[in-house]
Amino acid sequence: MARTAIRIHRIRRRLNHAFLRPQTLAFLPALMLGGFWFGGEGLLMITAVTFPGVLLLGGLLEGDRNKERMDGLTGLANREHLLETLAGHLHHFEGRGQSTIALVVQLDEFAEVAETLGTIGAEDVLRLSADRILGAIRPGDLAGRMVEHRYAVVLGPIRQANMEVGLRVSERIQAAIAEPISLEGGAVYVTASVGFCLARRAPRHTAESILEAAEIAMDEARRAGPGSIRSYSAEMGDAVEARQSLSEEIVVAFENGQIRAWFQPQISTDTGLVTGFEALARWDHPTRGVLPPCDFMAAVEASGTLERLGEVMLFQSLSALRLWDKSGYRVPRIGLNFSAAELRNPRLADRIRWELDRFDLTPDRLTIEVRQTVVAGSSSDIVSANITALAGLGCDVDLDDFGIGNASIANIRRFAVNRIKIDQSFVTRVDTDRTQQKMVAAILAMAEQLDLATLAEGIETHGEHAMLAQLGCGSVQGFGIAAPMPFEDTMAWMDKHMSRVGQAPEIGRPPG
Ligand code: C2E
Ligand code: MG
Ligand code: MG
Repeated sequence: MARTAIRIHRIRRRLNHAFLRPQTLAFLPALMLGGFWFGGEGLLMITAVTFPGVLLLGGLLEGDRNKERMDGLTGLANREHLLETLAGHLHHFEGRGQSTIALVVQLDEFAEVAETLGTIGAEDVLRLSADRILGAIRPGDLAGRMVEHRYAVVLGPIRQANMEVGLRVSERIQAAIAEPISLEGGAVYVTASVGFCLARRAPRHTAESILEAAEIAMDEARRAGPGSIRSYSAEMGDAVEARQSLSEEIVVAFENGQIRAWFQPQISTDTGLVTGFEALARWDHPTRGVLPPCDFMAAVEASGTLERLGEVMLFQSLSALRLWDKSGYRVPRIGLNFSAAELRNPRLADRIRWELDRFDLTPDRLTIEVRQTVVAGSSSDIVSANITALAGLGCDVDLDDFGIGNASIANIRRFAVNRIKIDQSFVTRVDTDRTQQKMVAAILAMAEQLDLATLAEGIETHGEHAMLAQLGCGSVQGFGIAAPMPFEDTMAWMDKHMSRVGQAPEIGRPPG
């Protein structure tokens, strides 16, 4: 398809070029005079009208054609135009020692920007970013918009198309986009992730392959965090293939019940009693064993099954609470993790209320774990509305991974947080490292002033456990107490734990 289009485009360009050259136009009077000599006034008239008519029609067609090749919102080239140009470059550069680079640029966290600014504001940002990309490239380069907030740039002929050039252009584009955007409501800050592919590094020597490789690099950049740059490499392609096959597998995994909640206990530093369990997702993979979330969360997102994961985790967590209650184990609450995307689901609070009712459990049995980074990076109304609705229902809110990223006291209030989970990075060697002790002590003092409960994550040693108890941290969780375990093992673990704490499990007494 693209090859035929390129051929037609080239023929038309040659014809236009031939007809519109000044040398050709200089023949126009002679042509009309000839028409008059050989055919009289009639032929003179026909010649005089036909030639400008053809030019006019050509111009109109060219205009339409240009519109077809343009993105309506930004006026940049569209994907097809980018591909044609890239294919043209590949053909033209062959044997001349020239090459090209394709770059794909995506605005970071644009869903949040759009949510905050509304459609018109979001379109302004898209147009302005397009202008800024244009301002950051040279006249021989072509900028286009692929979809939504994803742009691409095809560089003109370069003798040395190497990593350095790719990086330099990427940085220039990022810097241009990062300039504050002033809109009516105030300044907006947008960052961009960039992936690029040197033409010779793409899996195949075709326009599609180069642009796709740049998109893969951009996805990899996004995974590394906002504002990153990545260059395409063959290993990246392999990783994508592996992820794609995982994405296909995971849909089946949900159907076959291979996605399961494992549970990690949290205990009081005061009494040693279990204060709750955190539910952590695991994939019981048929050939690769039990996989942790870092190995499959990307596949869950890519396959669009994030909501399904939330449902499975909620169902299994509430089932676990019911079974512990029935068997007489006192587990006050269970903590569930929610990603930013899940927290943007407007149906979330309703679904949780409905499930709690179905299981006949009170909302205080469920704790919503929200990562510090999700809260800090969120200007979204839906996220705060969801958390407020769940808190209003009576669920507790834990601020996960506290201390890393931009901690903000304002967010603690805004998101009705009950407890902070001090990140493992502050806990490691807290018993031997004075600086760690000071940091944890400062966090605990802040929590006390704000009336927040505290839990320390990732306790691995007895020394860390003892020091946190001494510093006044409320609860602890970590491999030092127990690693996450499947539901079947939880009751035996609680039996053993309670016998160590010196208190028999309160069989037959459901929690009050
Ligand atoms: P998180 O909520 O901070 O969970 C704590 C992680 O620390 C868990 O990793 C846990 O296994 C690990 N951990 C616990 N104790 C120790 C320790 O003593 N030492 C060390 N090194 N690690 C410890 P896991 O299970 O791999 O989960 C990783 C992250 O994935 C979680 O971090 C959470 O953010 C996310 N996650 C887990 N399950 C779900 C889920 O169902 N939904 C969503 N959206 N995210 C989930
Ligand atoms: Mg957590
Ligand atoms: Mg954590």
